[in-house]
Amino acid sequence: MTARKLFAMALAMAPLSSIASAQSPTMILVNGKVWTENPAQPIAHAVALSESTILAVGDNDAIRKLAGPGTQVIDLKDHLLLPGFNDAHVHFLGGGDSLITVQLGTANSQAEMKDRVAAYARTLPNGAWIRNGNWDHQRWSPPALPNHQLIDEASGNHPALLWRLDGHMALANALALKLAGVDRNTRDVPGGEIERDKDGNPTGILKDAATDLVERVMPPPSREEQDRAMEAAMREAASHGVTSVQNMADTSEDRAQPDIFREFQKYERQDRLTIRIYEAMPVCDYKFLADPGIVAPFGSPRLRLGNLKAFADGALGSATAWMDAPFTNNPAKSGIASPDLLDPEHFYSQLRDADKAGLQISIHAIGDRANRTILDMYKRLENDNGPSDRRLRIEHAQHLHPADYPRFAQLGVIASMQPYHAIDDGRWAQAILGPERIQSSYAWKSLLDAGAILAFGSDWPVAPLDPVMGIYAAAARQTLDGKNPSGWIPGQKITVAQAVHAYTMGSAFAEHQEKVKGSIEPGKLADLVELSDDIFTIKPEAIKDTRVEMTIFDGKIAYQRK
Ligand SMILES: [Zn+2]
Repeated sequence: MTARKLFAMALAMAPLSSIASAQSPTMILVNGKVWTENPAQPIAHAVALSESTILAVGDNDAIRKLAGPGTQVIDLKDHLLLPGFNDAHVHFLGGGDSLITVQLGTANSQAEMKDRVAAYARTLPNGAWIRNGNWDHQRWSPPALPNHQLIDEASGNHPALLWRLDGHMALANALALKLAGVDRNTRDVPGGEIERDKDGNPTGILKDAATDLVERVMPPPSREEQDRAMEAAMREAASHGVTSVQNMADTSEDRAQPDIFREFQKYERQDRLTIRIYEAMPVCDYKFLADPGIVAPFGSPRLRLGNLKAFADGALGSATAWMDAPFTNNPAKSGIASPDLLDPEHFYSQLRDADKAGLQISIHAIGDRANRTILDMYKRLENDNGPSDRRLRIEHAQHLHPADYPRFAQLGVIASMQPYHAIDDGRWAQAILGPERIQSSYAWKSLLDAGAILAFGSDWPVAPLDPVMGIYAAAARQTLDGKNPSGWIPGQKITVAQAVHAYTMGSAFAEHQEKVKGSIEPGKLADLVELSDDIFTIKPEAIKDTRVEMTIFDGKIAYQRK
């Protein structure tokens, strides 16, 4: 055999990459199609793990040879193995709580919402609050906002604050309004709106900052409720192959975040975390991190701090996205800037000091004007504080002016986006934005073409904690109503490989963790997901039927499909 032939054969066999340690593996996975996200070895067939670390990646024979008597051997039966998914934007405990409280996300009419509230209220102890809900009036015909009269009788003696699924408006019942002291004489709060009927009485609908009026009289969830939410959230994540999440503060002045972090820390200390969490506190609290000298990302492989979250505007579905021009269906309005931006110089000074202290900044921006305002502030940050590996982020980056696409790459701003929102909002967004602005909405392709880094996530519980659905949304862009079979704004579709990259390496980069996770290579954390189908070869439209077969977290099986 010639040397040349031998060389060709060696190339044909997936090479065994360097071995991170001499001990025999605790687990090997063989007979798979391993999509590594490692450009030096893009495809392999088998992986060896040593406890929580990936030991080796290669072909079946080479990996099998590493096995010792105590090695667990898993046959992947030709299935696809990917790096564990990293969801770059979740509200983790809120998501868990949404699984254990009233379920309104699938209520298809006001009558159904009312019935579900009544049924749930009967399960509660006397006087307990009804919260969450995640209702979506866009599912109803006509899509009219609910009012407190709809649920007053159904909720009995339980105060209720039921959120719309986008988290930017909520319905309070009469009892909750009364406890909060909200009536016809209550003035609107800056950055929010109390919806009123023709006589000036509150309808129960509270938008953005106005929701605080009721939230501040709500008791926080009990420790027991928090534990139930945490466990439900971790189970949900594992069942979808999610091994890392980046948890976001819910509001600009989110007083619940220290409590939420305490819950995460409790699970970490008890060695019960089956998910890696990177926590974002509100920007206004940056001193609590900056003063003791915490630099992003600080902590353990399972729980880290250092990210900060703020808001530039609201959401499209609540007509609070801050746009350059008025809404097509509502020419009197062009959205609202968030309370954070009421005093832009004060806000900017917080960003500048937080950035100087080495903390990371992630700002929610939906409308084109909100996005441009934040890009301008990020530019100013670089001018004031000088160049550094700061990895500034815009969360959502949803409706952009095309002139702003290249600025993401120029300023090194990560576009942290949620593909599922496009197939959900795509049912009604054009009515609000018109035919032109819709072309640069959820513009993953344009952003990638302009050199931006994408990190994908779900915004759970706004959308399902399901990266497979997210990848389907990114590659197929078929709206949930089935009305766009060849894709909604098909020019913004991206490839499955690009979507997987955004859910693994992209989101790892977005949290400064690309050296320890996001790909299947020796030395990295042993977080893996096995899928039922090869999403790279089936039609993008079929991806939504793909199931997670198994999730490995930290070298151990965290989920296995029955
Ligand atoms: Zn969010």
